Amino acid sequence: MATTISLEQEINPWEAQAARFDYAARKLNLEDGLWKVLRQPSREIIVHFPVQMDDGRFEVFTGYRVQHSQARGPGKGGIRYAPDVTLDEVRALASWMTWKCAVVNIPFGGAKGGVICDPKTMSQGELERVTRRYTAEIIDFIGPEKDVPAPDLGTNEQTMAWIMDTYSMHMRQTVTSVVTGKPLSIGGSRGRREATGRGVRKVCDEALRFLEMPREGCRVILQGFGNVGSNAARLMMEAGYKIIGIAEYDGGLFNRDGIDIHALAEHRLRNGTILDFRGAEAADPDELLTTECEVLIPAAMENVITSRNADRIKARIVAEGANGPTTAVADDILAEKRIFVIPDILANAGGVTASYFEWVQDRQGYFWKEDTVNERLEAILADSFEDVVRYAEAHAVNNRIAAYMLAMDRVAFAIKQRGIYA
Ligand code: GLU
Repeated sequence: MATTISLEQEINPWEAQAARFDYAARKLNLEDGLWKVLRQPSREIIVHFPVQMDDGRFEVFTGYRVQHSQARGPGKGGIRYAPDVTLDEVRALASWMTWKCAVVNIPFGGAKGGVICDPKTMSQGELERVTRRYTAEIIDFIGPEKDVPAPDLGTNEQTMAWIMDTYSMHMRQTVTSVVTGKPLSIGGSRGRREATGRGVRKVCDEALRFLEMPREGCRVILQGFGNVGSNAARLMMEAGYKIIGIAEYDGGLFNRDGIDIHALAEHRLRNGTILDFRGAEAADPDELLTTECEVLIPAAMENVITSRNADRIKARIVAEGANGPTTAVADDILAEKRIFVIPDILANAGGVTASYFEWVQDRQGYFWKEDTVNERLEAILADSFEDVVRYAEAHAVNNRIAAYMLAMDRVAFAIKQRGIYA
C-alpha cells in the first residue's frame, strides 16, 4: 500500500488515515465526486482563547473541533487534552469516527476535538476554566442534533459534566444529550465507563471463535492501563484469558502465569503507577510488544506498531483498543505475517456504541439497566465483527480495509440518497 515514505510521514495520523482511505476507495470503485467529498473533513474549527491560571497569569490555549461528516447523523467523537495535539491528528481522529460509527451502524457522523494543554500539570480549577471557555468558543457548532462530544485521552466524566453545564447555561435549560460519557447522576449511561474495554473483549471472543482458538489460557499482552486497557484486562481475565503482560509509559509488567488484574488495579489506585507490583516481574514496555502471545492489545496511543517493530510482533491476533496504533506501512508487514488484525474502528467501537445508548437514553429520559446496555453493546459488536470478516472474505482484503470499505460504502450511500445541496 505505502512504499517508500519517511518515518515522519509514516507516523502522521492524517497520512495513515488517507492511505487506508484511498486504498479502500479504489477497491470500492468509489466515484470521483464522493471520493473528494469523503476525503476531507467538512468543517475545521480552530479557537485561541484566554484562561486565567491559578497564579493570576493569563494563558492563551488553542483548541480544535473537526467535523469530518454529518451525512448519517450528528457529528460524534471525543475531545482530547494533550500537549502535543495537532490539527492533523484531530482531522484523522474525526474521520476515524465517521468510519467507526458507520462500521457499527449507529446514526452518527464523525468529529473530534482537542485542546493543546497538559492536564497532568493543571489544577482542577484550571481544567474547569479551560473546558468552559473552550465549550463557549465552539458552542454554535455543538448540540444534540449537531455534534456530540465525549471523553478521549486526557478528558473524563468530570470534563463532560463541565461541558454539559456550560452548554446548558447558554441554552437556559439543562441539555444532557449534548455530550456523552457523563457521570451517572447527570444523564450518564450505566456501562459507558467500561464499554470500550468490554467491546475489545467481545471482538477478541469473536476472533477466537472465528479462528477456532480456545479462550481458556489464551495469552494476552496489553499496552496501556488507562480506561480502555484496564477494563479490557479485567473483563478478559474474568472471562478466562491469561493476561501475561502490561506495558505502560513508565514501565511494564510480565508474569507467564497471568497477572491478577484486580490486585493490580488496587495497587495502581494506592500508588499511582503499575510499577513495583508484587504479582509480576518488571519488563521493558517495548519488548512486551514483541513478546510471544496470542492476543496483543495496543490500548494507549497512535503509532505503536510501525515499520520499526512490526516484523518482530509475535501475536496471532492484534486487537486495536487505541485509535491508530498501527501505521499503514506496518499493516502490510502484519498482513505478510498473517497476523489477524481487529482494526481500531471495530475493536474500540464499544465506547461510541455505549455513547449512542447514552444519547438515546438522555433524549428518551428513560434509563436502561446495566445488563440491557451490555447485552445490546455486545450484540452490535458481534454483528459488526461478522460483517467485517465476511466483507474481507468476499472482497479478498484484510480486516482493516474491509472495515473501511464497509463504512465508506454506508456513508457514500447516505450522501447519494440525500443528494448534494447546491
Ligand atoms: N473517544 C472515543 C473514541 O475514540 C469515544 C467517542 C464517543 O464516545 O463519542 O471512540
